[in-house]
Amino acid sequence: MVERFAKAIKMDIEKFRQNAHELVDWMADYLRDLEEYPVRAQVSPGEILKQLPSNPPSRSDSFEEIFDDFQKIVLPGMTHWQHPSFFAYFPANSSPPSVLAEMVTATIGAQCMSWETSPAAAELEQRMMEWLREIIGLPSEFQGVIQDSASSATLCAILSARERATDWRVNRAGLSGEPDMVVYGSTECHSSVEKNVKIAGLGKKNFRKIQVTDTFAIDTRALVDAIERDKAEGRLPICMVAALGSTSSSAIDPLLDIADICKRHRLWLHVDAAWAGSALVDPELRWMIDGIEGVDSFVFNPHKWLFTNFDCSAYFVRSPDALLKTLSILPEYLKSEGGEAVRNYRDWGVPLGRRFRALKLWFVLRSYGIEQLRKMIRTHIDYAQELALEIGAERDFELLAPTPLALVCFRYRPTKVASPVELDSVNERIVKEINDSGAAYLTHTRLNGAYAIRISIGQAGTKQHHVKNLWSRVKQTARGIRLVV
Ligand code: PLP
Repeated sequence: MVERFAKAIKMDIEKFRQNAHELVDWMADYLRDLEEYPVRAQVSPGEILKQLPSNPPSRSDSFEEIFDDFQKIVLPGMTHWQHPSFFAYFPANSSPPSVLAEMVTATIGAQCMSWETSPAAAELEQRMMEWLREIIGLPSEFQGVIQDSASSATLCAILSARERATDWRVNRAGLSGEPDMVVYGSTECHSSVEKNVKIAGLGKKNFRKIQVTDTFAIDTRALVDAIERDKAEGRLPICMVAALGSTSSSAIDPLLDIADICKRHRLWLHVDAAWAGSALVDPELRWMIDGIEGVDSFVFNPHKWLFTNFDCSAYFVRSPDALLKTLSILPEYLKSEGGEAVRNYRDWGVPLGRRFRALKLWFVLRSYGIEQLRKMIRTHIDYAQELALEIGAERDFELLAPTPLALVCFRYRPTKVASPVELDSVNERIVKEINDSGAAYLTHTRLNGAYAIRISIGQAGTKQHHVKNLWSRVKQTARGIRLVV
């Protein structure tokens, strides 16, 4: 019986080997032929669901059958984020070395919650965060951990701020009896900040969205006024989240002034550089972190713009003490080897279980080296800035925000259309027509109330001709729309 079982497993492994080889061929073909796919999935709601059986299979299906269905049913419903004409949202880019590392990670299938559960994972993560710290020019006292997302990291920052401000009373006794605690960010900061204020139990009413200046960066005078008003009215200001590359328009909040304000008012200063943090690989862009000495925590996502597969969010803290004191907990069943000498990253974030994410960073950073990473990011920024110049030169288009990095925000503004509502609708049609064509994918936002088209450049495979083709398509689509005036 035991022998039969062992034999069956051995056969499974040989089948796995064969399937894996076939799959790698498919993967390489997919990456080679990406441009043949429509960028955004061209399916309607429910189209995939109705092709999936309502009940799970009672007998096993072969890998061939499953993969065949994947190609027939699932693939047409996928949006191809690695397509070189993906210009939507911010990128969630990937790269061959990162994919290879993910294969290894999935194969080993380790759960890396503590040092003992995989010492190499913990120590590689520690070293990778030191490398990243150096690559983006953070001061050497910062220490980091890989989290699943910037949202989770920002939650950790707000929780640490809450606990530091109350001398860890909320951890012990809950929020009752505490003053209202206030968190600040600009009107342009990411929605995850407000979500986290709610999760942290502080109440949405205690999140202050501070007005921005004409560059969409926070107005620091308004920030000071809001803090002083809250203090005068008996509330406790605890945390400021500065945006380094806001989602709508890539605005850069002035860190130096903000750090000074936070120091004066004893606020935890967290920097959300989810997307733009990767650009710090270029030392010429480190003006964005002038004032970093006054920052308590900083997050950026290598899974956005540093060629590393989702998920991989790098969270740095000036001193891990507050984070560990806020989150660590040690039941008997988690006591493990290593003692004080090791890092148990389970205490550095919300979930206990952790994937082995450091491996893909190691593969990526070694495969490209700092120089090539810098070159790739610089190229994206150059493409975006050239595009902004071209858009600015057209009489019937207008830029709606500065382009400090690789995001261009603009709209079509033909002289014949004066009504703001009509302008919004014309621009909405441009985005829809391009996305429906499958040739490229772009998204929108609102800036000063106006519908703005966003072109975000950051895919590893994006070349100049992809950007030029998109711009020609935008002009052609816009000018081809029959205006009702
Ligand atoms: N912060 C900014 C500035 C973002 O642009 C985003 C997402 O695009 C986030 C936070 C949220 O990132 P995540 O999906 O890693 O939580």
